[in-house]
Amino acid sequence: MVSVWAEKALLENGWAENVLIGISPEGLIESIVPGRAATGQTTGILLPAPANCHSHAFQRAMAGLTEKRGPNPSDSFWTWRQLMFRFLDRLTPEHVEAIAAFVQMEMLEAGYSANVEFHYLHHQPGGVPYANVAEMAERIAAASATTGMGLTLLPVHYQYGGCDKRPLGPGQVRFGNTLDAYTELHARSTEAIAHLPTDSRIGVAPHSLRAIAAEDLAHHADIAGANPLHMHLAEQIAEVEEIEAAHGKRPVEFVLDTMELNDRRCFIHCTQMLPHETEGLAKSGAVAGLCPITESSLGDGIFDGVRWFENGGAIAVGSDSNIRISLSEELRTLDYSQRLRDHSRAALATPDKSTGRRLLDAINAGGATASARNNGVLAVGKLADMMALDSEAVDLIGRTGDTILDCYMFAGEDRMVKDVWSAGRHMVTHGQHIKREAIVSAYARTMKELGEAI
Ligand code: ZN
Repeated sequence: MVSVWAEKALLENGWAENVLIGISPEGLIESIVPGRAATGQTTGILLPAPANCHSHAFQRAMAGLTEKRGPNPSDSFWTWRQLMFRFLDRLTPEHVEAIAAFVQMEMLEAGYSANVEFHYLHHQPGGVPYANVAEMAERIAAASATTGMGLTLLPVHYQYGGCDKRPLGPGQVRFGNTLDAYTELHARSTEAIAHLPTDSRIGVAPHSLRAIAAEDLAHHADIAGANPLHMHLAEQIAEVEEIEAAHGKRPVEFVLDTMELNDRRCFIHCTQMLPHETEGLAKSGAVAGLCPITESSLGDGIFDGVRWFENGGAIAVGSDSNIRISLSEELRTLDYSQRLRDHSRAALATPDKSTGRRLLDAINAGGATASARNNGVLAVGKLADMMALDSEAVDLIGRTGDTILDCYMFAGEDRMVKDVWSAGRHMVTHGQHIKREAIVSAYARTMKELGEAI
């Protein structure tokens, strides 16, 4: 058994000091004893480390490249799409593995314990499957083996170019599968993660109501069973209009009326919701998978967080396009969006929980169910998914209790993160991933190759 001693720790029942935590070889928390003298591996302020609920790893390599306007000023996606198409023509499995490892390394260094990878880049350029249909899934799994980050792999079913079932466009053919091909891919992807540590998970991801046939959702739910099922839901206004025109219902109304919902269902980008949709979906138990930095980058709009929380809704956060991977910034962006819209302050806080505490608790709980990970709190029997803040960071000096979390989230940054464990694997020490040098150099090689191409 490995022991970790922390000056302070946020446990299931609140803050404690001088805490000694025992971790089993399987990565589970076996014992928690406050009030012990420092011994063995020591750290600062120990917190539960949440799962990152939504990522498309390969997009990390495009970060910062899509900020120019195209010939039509109203088409703000033009440069993004053009770049994406050129980029997709070049990406090899080796590139994808190097990028995914780099992304997971950055996630761990930001304080996330697990990567829920919404994985849709399946085929060769031109759309022909690889000889091994799960080639790319295996590359994501290989990245996880390198980084030690927990993985919940969500192979994505992507079949059509829109609600009218038009064929995929040239930029989409590497994503496409019929329902039968997807079912096969899902089975092969399940095998691809079999050699990873036992905390890895598989799930199902129908891409969106635009990219699959709505009548196939029952099949997706069957494959998912008790595993997670994630879907992009209501990100942009044009998307909502397209779905309403095709199905006679807005996307949130559609899933409320047709799907069995529970806390293993995670809907990504619940941005475009009317009040009755927010209330209904919050009460359904489904998790809203929020990606505030990407949603800001794309100009999607603002999640109705105040109403969502008032109705007991669950949330998780993800980094989606990975334009910037920062846990503290995701939470700060989420909270500030509410303030800017409502001309309010601390709108998500409650009488007994500050903003920082409320959000950290919420994303740990929602992230755990959305990723099917036995984590979310520091308690005996849970995975040792833990992050530790540096108690010597200047913004934390003299701070106690939940104020620590507020100072980290609003005045601090991810550089405060000193140690991170994923299922007991101690992958970040002194603020850096233990394999940082090798992972960065593989990523740099990839970026040089891609840079010449795009
Ligand atoms: Zn996404």
